[in-house]
Amino acid sequence: MTEFASISVSLPHIPDDVTLAQFMLDAAHPTRPVRGPNTAWLIEDATGRRIDYEEIRARVFGLANALSLKWNIREDEVVCIFSPNHVDYPVAVWAVHRLGAIVTAANPSYNAEELAYQLTATKAVNIIAHPAFLPAALTAAKQAGIPPERVIPIDPASEAQRRHLAPTLGELVAYGLAHEASFVERRLNPGEGKTKLAFLSFSSGTTGKPKAVAISHYAPIANVISMAAHMRINEEYAAWDQRRFRPGDVGIAVLPFFHIYGLVVNMHFLLYAGQTLVVVPKFDFVKYLESITKYRITHLLVVPPQVVLLCKHPATKKYDLSHVRYVFSGAAPLSAELSEHIVKVLPNAHIGQGYGMTETSTTVTMFPLSQRIGTLGSAGQLLPGVRARVVKSDGTYAKAGEQGELYVTGPSMALRYANNEQATKETFIDGWVRTGDEVIIDKNGDVFVVDRLKEIMKVRGFQVAPAELEGHLLTQPDVGDCCVVGVPDDYSGEVPLAFVVLTADAAKRAASSASQAEKLKAAIAKHVADHKIYYKRLSGGVVFVDSIPKNPSGKLLRRVLRDQAKLLRTTS
Ligand code: AMP
Repeated sequence: MTEFASISVSLPHIPDDVTLAQFMLDAAHPTRPVRGPNTAWLIEDATGRRIDYEEIRARVFGLANALSLKWNIREDEVVCIFSPNHVDYPVAVWAVHRLGAIVTAANPSYNAEELAYQLTATKAVNIIAHPAFLPAALTAAKQAGIPPERVIPIDPASEAQRRHLAPTLGELVAYGLAHEASFVERRLNPGEGKTKLAFLSFSSGTTGKPKAVAISHYAPIANVISMAAHMRINEEYAAWDQRRFRPGDVGIAVLPFFHIYGLVVNMHFLLYAGQTLVVVPKFDFVKYLESITKYRITHLLVVPPQVVLLCKHPATKKYDLSHVRYVFSGAAPLSAELSEHIVKVLPNAHIGQGYGMTETSTTVTMFPLSQRIGTLGSAGQLLPGVRARVVKSDGTYAKAGEQGELYVTGPSMALRYANNEQATKETFIDGWVRTGDEVIIDKNGDVFVVDRLKEIMKVRGFQVAPAELEGHLLTQPDVGDCCVVGVPDDYSGEVPLAFVVLTADAAKRAASSASQAEKLKAAIAKHVADHKIYYKRLSGGVVFVDSIPKNPSGKLLRRVLRDQAKLLRTTS
């Protein structure tokens, strides 16, 4: 049997008796980098407001105390955060953890229907919502049976918005700080961190609709320590000014905290690495460049569409980005061409990729310290503590250089899909996570992701589940049958395209004239655009077909249609 393991360093000790909040705020981790005096942890991008460790810690206590005093939030209850990045985002996460409760983070651009699905699936009891997204939060709360008095607006919320809601997060912090501690902080027994849940994050896995991935406290702690070890951030392995991570580094948090990559790598890992984080609520490329320059950002965590902009947008040339020393791309493949291009745009930076998924919370590979520029096309090398198997189509294990499906295990693996035994059985197998990605691991330990076997599409780094769109399309009266696949796109990586079999009546109309057919396509695309978040739209188009290819047991032959879609793209 061939098994692959990290070739960098061995895995240091990982505490299994602390919550994530205790790990970040209390545990004096012996090897943790020292910050300079008065170094802020967070900076609010728009205002320049700096927030240091003491203030964050106090706000976390205040909010936890208020959540306990006002609603008696208890162990294992779920609180949803429905917000773009905000300096109070980590405060909310860690306050919930102080109570032994669980965070489910939702994309703030979700419409009410999409949010209600998450609230119901996780049985959330409170929502912490950004004021700009309160209408969707309130509608979804109603659908999920959460009273408006349990919807907590992040500041500042208008008087009109607040009339029927809970006090704002800032008011709750003040309230909690003005009162004696009403809760006993949840402390974990040795080993308990491995099973105590910290997050319910959403992912579609290999098939079907988005599911809640149950993530323990131990998993992200392990991932943070493992990444730190991989890059020796706590070691004086070279002269100070030659090191990849140094005191005084400044990161920018533009990757959304509601996604596992933003949550674990951008928020927790960069803070753990001793960086000051500039928190940006919304990605706007020119503003991003301005912030990078203004705050002299040293480390960028990105997704491939942001690399496209850095390489191709004319504004990039107008900014001096010479202080950028590190660029890490993840969540979707970065082509070799783009990798070569970005190296020219940011000549002072170490640049490479990482790979991971919600089910492995988060990274299982990262380009190593030994490579200033990651091997072209490689998603990096296995992190300390991670083991991998590559299973070939005949079921045997691949050797170095051979292709097959990647299975991984290690201390950061999620536990299961909550309340979904069948999906859990298919993905979490004897302590291994079946990734649904086809890879080659070469003899140097570089992991190349060559294909995706699972159904999901990755649009701008976000998952889109075909099953979700297909289920929705079938509610459109003209759609008799359908199959959604991803087609390649220069900026987004891929975009959804729907193959549609029209109902008999609609097919007659489509056959009557080209304009009727176009009208039908527009109506079908609109049906998605009206009900789904922007990146799930059918930007790849709608194609009418006579039938959807299926195997004898009725399973969609998605691959056939994926190939057909690619062909359509190249011939159109
Ligand atoms: P998510 O759970 O949303 O993070 O999605 C995980 C999936 O994103 C993986 O299973 C891969 O299909 C894809 N992915 C993440 N990082 C990379 C990468 N560097 N190269 C190729 N695909 C990636």
